[in-house]
Amino acid sequence: MHILISNDDGYRAPGIHALARVMRRFGRVTIVAPDHNHSGASNSLTLNRPLTVEHMPGESLYVVSGTPSDCVHVALTGLLEDRPDLVVSGINCGANMGDDTMYSGTVAAAIEGHLFGIPSIAFSQIDKGWSELEAAAEVAAAVVDRFAEPAIAAKEPMLLNVNIPNMPRAALKGIVATRLGRRSSAEPVIREMSPRGFPIYWLGAAGKPSDASEGTDFWATSHGFVSVTPLQTDLTNHRQVALAGEWLNSDGVPDVLSE
Ligand code: MN
Repeated sequence: MHILISNDDGYRAPGIHALARVMRRFGRVTIVAPDHNHSGASNSLTLNRPLTVEHMPGESLYVVSGTPSDCVHVALTGLLEDRPDLVVSGINCGANMGDDTMYSGTVAAAIEGHLFGIPSIAFSQIDKGWSELEAAAEVAAAVVDRFAEPAIAAKEPMLLNVNIPNMPRAALKGIVATRLGRRSSAEPVIREMSPRGFPIYWLGAAGKPSDASEGTDFWATSHGFVSVTPLQTDLTNHRQVALAGEWLNSDGVPDVLSE
């Protein structure tokens, strides 16, 4: 098996090297990762300048001057000589649960693999600081061992979002399939004065969970379970398609195009 690894914390982050170490058990590993931290980059691509790719001699490590999505995109569209069988991302420093998945560069790298039809998995540790990183890497290996089985992978290329509590392996209660929870709106922006005398703004912290009910990623990880959420990229609100059509065509609604 050939496994492509990326992340959003940058190629120096301990999480990506811990992940690479365990992925080598499954076959050949190529790391293509950003040159610096791009947490919160979401699915952004760099279209206004070219990218540089630095190959670290003697290592299967490529450092890209772009986003996580750029890394996987470049890897799959010309950098790699053969198509990987699996794309993994992480292990991220911090949770990517609920609404975080919309902003996450870790999840975005996996989404990019999924958009090219390759089974893809994003891994994140709940707490920042890299505690119990080796345990998280073993969990990642266990998840890959299960989902990368050819019989499963061939059925339907899955896009998985995995969140791992920072706990010793023996303390983890298990691995469960979940749905995304929800967060409340983010904390207010923090306004400060720059040393040059103009206001600057720090985006506030993510909101507290608003749906952490049983079955969600928030519930699972706060109860000592590893959370595995299957994701999809179709943002269509299928229930509202008919509703929007009715509203556009119903009597009494002004036709915006004839005004
Ligand atoms: Mn990150």
